[in-house]
This record gives sequence, C-alpha cells and structure tokens, in this order.
Amino acid sequence: MKPWYAHYDPGVPQEAPRPKPLPQALEETATRFPNRVALEFLGRSLTYKELWREVQAFAKGLQAAGVKPGERVALMLPNTPQFVIAFYGTLLAGGVGVNVNPMYTPRELRHQLLDAGAKVLVILDQLLPRYQEVKGESAVALVVRTGIQDYLPFPKNLLYPWALKRKGQWPREMEGLPWRSFLKGGKPEPVPLDLDDVALLQYTGGTTGLAKGAMLTHKNLASNALQVRAWIPDFREGEEVVLGAIPFFHVYGMTVAMNLALLGGAKLVLLPRPEIKAIVEAIEKHRVTLFPGVPTLYVAFNNFPGIEGRNLKSVRACISGSAPLPLEVAERFEKLTGAKLVEGYGLTEASPVTHCNPLYGERRLGSVGLPFPGVEAKVVDEEGKELPPGEVGELAIKGPNVMKGYWNRPEETQKALRDGWLFTGDLAKMDQDGYFYIVDRKKDMIIAGGYNIYPREVEEVLYQHPAVQEAAVVGVPDPYRGETVAAFLVLKPEYRGKVTEKDIEAFCRQNLAAYKVPRIVVFKESLPKSGVGKILKRELAKEVGPRR
Ligand code: AMP
Repeated sequence: MKPWYAHYDPGVPQEAPRPKPLPQALEETATRFPNRVALEFLGRSLTYKELWREVQAFAKGLQAAGVKPGERVALMLPNTPQFVIAFYGTLLAGGVGVNVNPMYTPRELRHQLLDAGAKVLVILDQLLPRYQEVKGESAVALVVRTGIQDYLPFPKNLLYPWALKRKGQWPREMEGLPWRSFLKGGKPEPVPLDLDDVALLQYTGGTTGLAKGAMLTHKNLASNALQVRAWIPDFREGEEVVLGAIPFFHVYGMTVAMNLALLGGAKLVLLPRPEIKAIVEAIEKHRVTLFPGVPTLYVAFNNFPGIEGRNLKSVRACISGSAPLPLEVAERFEKLTGAKLVEGYGLTEASPVTHCNPLYGERRLGSVGLPFPGVEAKVVDEEGKELPPGEVGELAIKGPNVMKGYWNRPEETQKALRDGWLFTGDLAKMDQDGYFYIVDRKKDMIIAGGYNIYPREVEEVLYQHPAVQEAAVVGVPDPYRGETVAAFLVLKPEYRGKVTEKDIEAFCRQNLAAYKVPRIVVFKESLPKSGVGKILKRELAKEVGPRR
C-alpha cells in the first residue's frame, strides 16, 4: 500500500507549511504587496497598505479603550471590510475574536456573549436592537457599531463614522473614549503573540445543542489557511482573486476565503450575503479565480437561470465543504466554469479543513479525499482501536489545525480530544490508498427496523432523479420501525406539479434496498439552512414528527 501522499498533486508538500501569528502574516503580505487591492466591497477597494493601517488603528483603539490581551471581542457582522479590520485588529491587540452569527436571535446572542465573557461587541447598526434586548445581562463594556455603508469616506473612519456623532446617534457605550486617536492612525503598543495563543472562539454545536466555543489558536488558523493554499499547487501569490461569499463568521469562510486570500496577497471580493445573483455577477466582474463554497451554493449556481450564457471561465479552483457534495452537482459546475471543484471535509474543531480530493489528480467517487499536508487521520472502533481499510468507524484527526479545546468546558474537551487526537463524531472509512469516505454523522444515522441507513446514500440517489434540485433525508420516529426515512425535496421549477411523491418512491425503489426507501416524501419551496448553508435537518425532522 502506497502512502496516501503518493496521491497528492505534484508540488503539494507532505508536511504542513510553517505558520506565523495571523497579524504578523498579514503585515508581511502588506509589505510584499502594498499597493495590491486587498478588499473589494460594494464598488470600492482597499489596498493591503491601507488595510494594514486600518488594522493598526483598530488595535490601537482597543488598547486605548482598555482592552487587554486575552480579552474577547465579539464580531456580529456580515462579510464586510469592517469584519476583516476588526478581526485582525483584535488579534494585533492580543485579543480573541468571537464570531457571532448575524442571524442569531437575542437568546442565542445572550448565550454566546455570556459564555465567551465578551468585553467588546462590534456590531452592524441593523442588528443593534437584538443586542439591546440582552444588553444588561452581558459583560460587554464597549459597543462599536457600524452601518454597512457607513465607512465613507472609504477607507478612513471605517468604524467610527463622524456623521453619526454629529447626528447625536453616537452610542452611549462609546462616549468618554479617546476615539479621535484612532482616526489619527498610528501604531498600537506591540503585544508579543505566541502561536499557541487563542485567536478565535468559534461556537459550534448550535444545531445539536448548546453551542460551545472551540478555541482556535493562531497556529490552528494560520496553518489551515496555509494548508489550503498548499493544496492548490498553482496558487499564485499576489495574483489570485478570491470570492468571499460564504460567511466569515463560520470558520470555513474565515479560513478558506478570508485568511487564504489575505495570507496569499489575493484580492478578496466581499459579499455581505451569499446570494447567487451577486455571486455570478461578482465572478464575471472581478474575474474571480478561487471560489470556496458549500454544496447548496453550487446547486444554486448550477440552477441559476441563464447560467450557460455567463462568462465564468476565470474560476480555476473551488473547494466544497461542510456537507456532502453530490457528484452530479460538481460535474455540472465544472462544465459551466471550466474550474476544478473538489470536495473536502472538515469541522470547526479543525479550523476546519482536514481532507480534500486532489485538485488535478485522482478524485474518488463519494470520497472526501486525502488528509491534508501535516494531518494524520484514522478510523477507530468504539474502544478507540484503529480499524483496517474498508471498515466503518469514527474518524479521528491529528494536526496543527486541531483546536486547543473547548472554552471553559474541560469535560467536553476531554471527550473530544484524547491523546492528541480529535474525535470527530463522524463515521468514516478509508480505502486501501488512504482516501476517506464520510459515511455519515454518527448522530444522523437512521436506524429503521434494525437496519442502519445513511442519509447520504439516499440523498445521492435522489439527486440522480432529473426533477430533484435539492434533497435532504432525515429519520423520523415511527411506531413500528423505530425510525423511518423521510425525504424533503425541492423540485426544479419545470417539474413542479408534474412529479409526484409516488414517482420519487418508485425511483428510489429502483435504486435502493426496500428498507432505505423514503416512506415519507415532502415537496418544499426551499430547505431551511444554517448561516453557512448547511441544511438544518433537525428542523425538517420536527416538521413530520416529534424531535428525535
Ligand atoms: P461544522 O463544525 O459546522 O463545520 O460541521 C462539521 C460537520 O459537517 C462534520 O463533522 C461533518 O459531519 C459535516 N461535514 C463537513 N464536510 C463534509 C463532507 N464533505 N461530507 C459530509 N459531511 C461533512
């Protein structure tokens, strides 16, 4: 058996590249490519030199406000220049970023602010009412607010719009602070940063229970961005154009769009919302070369009216992660763009990417590919014993991108991290050549009448039906079988009203053992999704029965 890295694309290293603390890495990019456009947002741009200056000003501002190294700064922002500046500025001041999903309700926001003990909140004006509901309960002492358009004149005054102050709308929390000093720019007090310092608390598990903060260090985040870069053997430093459509408040967007771009001197095109029309237009307008996405985005892309007539040939390489990518979807996308689209796999606790198919070499059907440079991966049984190729067990990971632990949760940390291995909670198998296959999420496995059913398999079949645009399969309680299989489908517009539930069942019956065939088929206009585009299966399950 050849080692797995024998299947790497030529030029991809076996080891993870050596990371540096993130602000230092950005400073180096700014020194190398000072006049290259770093950020492109709503028709305006910011060079690396300007970006670095704003990052320094923000760090200085935090220091002036009394923020000490290690203190948490929550960011409740969509993909904007403000997000990038506030995150890197926080790190430069020695602080820890806390990503908050802008879609959170006050209840979820309250949990996260309290759990993280955030001292500062950087928030979009429109979202302020949600914070105001929980304001008295958190430890937040400083709120930095910004309107999505309030960065004029760009790039000055990005986060401190004087216009607001003049109108008397300056938030109370900001009064009494030496804000003027930020505007003069200048350098913050240098804070020594260690690679093992925590850079980000990334909350996870929100769809399954109470969210907990994965502590991701400078080493974790920088390593993963460099691993992604190393995976693209023809990555051109200082020349790429990365589309930042997937949200940065999820670590997938942060690493594979934001940090990949900023550490590699790319132009990062920011889209505040991952809307398909804006994506297609941005690709054409900015000649995007790298477009990280999630399966639902690629599905939307492929079904976008008139897509064949658009000029998308600038896109060279794409990674899809966060959920299984149906092969059909990948193939159609590649035909439309001429790009390479490969499926990868990862999880928040690994910053997040751990596996990917080679971009130019051999991709295997249904596989998430090979472990990244510097990542070790194994499949283990219930006792933690390593299983041979072909056997299904839990996937465990080791590498420079694996988190330090969960914030303030030693017990949960001990469960997830054992002997330096991260236990992913995903069921996987490995083939003879070291390609991995995610069979399913441990918790998502459906057990019906004693048979194990992996929703992914049923979904793959459903996607082969010509009428199916999107599919999600979940288990729902059943008095006889324990659970039964339910399929939620969005049909392509031209098939709506023409294809029936019976047709779908019959199609599945042709392709699946009887026990796997969905007994419940529900047609929907759209499927509920999380901020990063993952289908919220538990919500779907609730629609047809009590929560499992
Ligand atoms: P998150 O921590 O929100 O990024 O979710 C990570 C989880 O998403 C993993 O534990 C997997 O269950 C799932 N996941 C990510 N990528 C894939 C993939 N390519 N195929 C199947 N499941 C995936």
